[in-house]
Amino acid sequence: MTSDIVKSSAATARRGASGKLGWLQNPVWNKGTAFTAAERETLGLRGLLPPRVFTQEEQVERIMQTLRRMPNDLERYAQLIALQDRNEALFYRVILDHLDEMMPIIYTPTVGKACQEYGNLFRRPRGLYLSAADRGEVARVMRNWPHRDVRVIVVTDGERILGLGDLGTYGMGIPVGKLSLYTACGGIHPRVCLPITLDVGTENTTLLSDPFYTGLRQRRLRGPAYDEFIEEFIRATRKVFPRALIQFEDFGNLNAFRLLKQYQTRVRTFNDDIQGTGAVTLAGIYSALRLTGRPLAEQTVLFQGAGEAGIGIGDLIVAALMAEGVPQAEARRHCWFVDSQGLVVQGRGELAAHKVPYAHAHASCPDLLSAIEALRPTVLVGVSGMPKSFTQGVVEAMARHNPRPVILALSNPTSKAECTAEEAYGWSQGRAIFASGSPFPPVTLEGRRFVPGQGNNAYIFPGVGLGVLSCGARRVTDSMFSHAAKALAQEVQESDLQQGRIYPALQRMREVSAAIAVAVAEEAYRLNLAEVPRPADLRGHVAGQMYQPQYPSYV
Ligand code: NAD
Repeated sequence: MTSDIVKSSAATARRGASGKLGWLQNPVWNKGTAFTAAERETLGLRGLLPPRVFTQEEQVERIMQTLRRMPNDLERYAQLIALQDRNEALFYRVILDHLDEMMPIIYTPTVGKACQEYGNLFRRPRGLYLSAADRGEVARVMRNWPHRDVRVIVVTDGERILGLGDLGTYGMGIPVGKLSLYTACGGIHPRVCLPITLDVGTENTTLLSDPFYTGLRQRRLRGPAYDEFIEEFIRATRKVFPRALIQFEDFGNLNAFRLLKQYQTRVRTFNDDIQGTGAVTLAGIYSALRLTGRPLAEQTVLFQGAGEAGIGIGDLIVAALMAEGVPQAEARRHCWFVDSQGLVVQGRGELAAHKVPYAHAHASCPDLLSAIEALRPTVLVGVSGMPKSFTQGVVEAMARHNPRPVILALSNPTSKAECTAEEAYGWSQGRAIFASGSPFPPVTLEGRRFVPGQGNNAYIFPGVGLGVLSCGARRVTDSMFSHAAKALAQEVQESDLQQGRIYPALQRMREVSAAIAVAVAEEAYRLNLAEVPRPADLRGHVAGQMYQPQYPSYV
């Protein structure tokens, strides 16, 4: 998959750089001060660059110094995007070599702020905008994308960006950021990645009244008009980019569930907010259970928030229990949900379809704390976007009922987290097994150091994408996510667990993604969904597909 793209790009570069400036201005070919003396001579670049030749490592060091001197992460984000526009290989080298430091900038939490400021940050367009005004011509507009060989599309309609709500076209920061992670973490070549924003309007009145808003200034399409537009988008994608995997991202929850159900069995697609979140959280729970020593079948999981993330996690836990032989109805009773109206129970009134399977027969509980007292959950998962909702009382109640309460405060960005790492460890006297959606620094409590894990979907989707592309899977099944979760949990080492960390170190992301890709491809072969014949050495085949951000030689 990837190697042929790398070769052809070096060859294309030699043939196609139109004029000398092409070498310096095209981010795909540009090496900046790292063009060697021989390249400068041959390509006619002598004098167009300062004389000293730098190595890529030296360039990385210089960029890091600049970034570290900047006053805040939003400025670092802008600087990184400018680097991506200038020198792609250097951008990915910087990210890959400093994932710990860079991930919170190119993705959550900074990407949230960046989306809110997208109108001001906008310098060069990146990705494809398909708007309601393009109806009937979506395929034609898609063909304007300069590359034919697209293998991964991340698409949003901007309706529910992280926990920040409707940001219309400013949501483009999310597909752009996710695809950077596909490349950095999963080694998917950047040339085959395509971020797409579907501009169907916005309900955000601030944006609608902003004279500089970049999207359509109209309310969102709804009902049949919306569905027809999505259908046209899917059909156009199949025609123009037939090999592409389509990842749905940050759609409003009623559309997200519906569209997943509708397209999951028709095209190569998944929804990261539902399935990716399910897998990363299930993996974290598996790791936490290595610390508590109790099996999944003994857990009661209480969710605060019954949206895409919560139901996605619940469904995967149910699938995992069923794979262990637990009947579906019983498996579902391991998962309970509190939404804005209190505990989701039978007879509470009309419920959205995705909540119905989890509306168990039980007395009503008006809020989270009363639900904890009634159900005594072993695992508490925050996915409501309601900041500070894991109060001292909530954490203390979890700690009263469990020797090692598992507390996952997953709402993003940091400002939306249900509690901080310090609060979770402090209020539970260091007994909580804690992870969050956005990163928190390590906490020292009475001389003990705790390293909170980050339940970041970036542990899952790049590996899933790599696996799907490596074997040419025609569909992406829920069982692939169960296997991805297990593979991720297996990558957590004893040394991680000893520090309280239930996810692997971010620096190991490439190895982790490769392991997940192998698990996903194995499942595709098992289900007879793979188009690529099974290689003798699947692990070697997957590793061989991964893009390395090294400069090619042009002479
Ligand atoms: P969503 O809009 O689909 O769901 C939010 C849910 O929270 C809804 O069910 C809503 O009824 C419920 N809710 C709202 N107010 C509440 C209240 N006061 N009490 C209880 N429940 C309440 O959103 P989502 O996709 O499920 O995402 C929710 C949050 O999870 C976001 O902040 C998102 O950033 C985060 N998230 C984190 C990860 C991760 O860390 N890996 C992945 C996905 C989502």
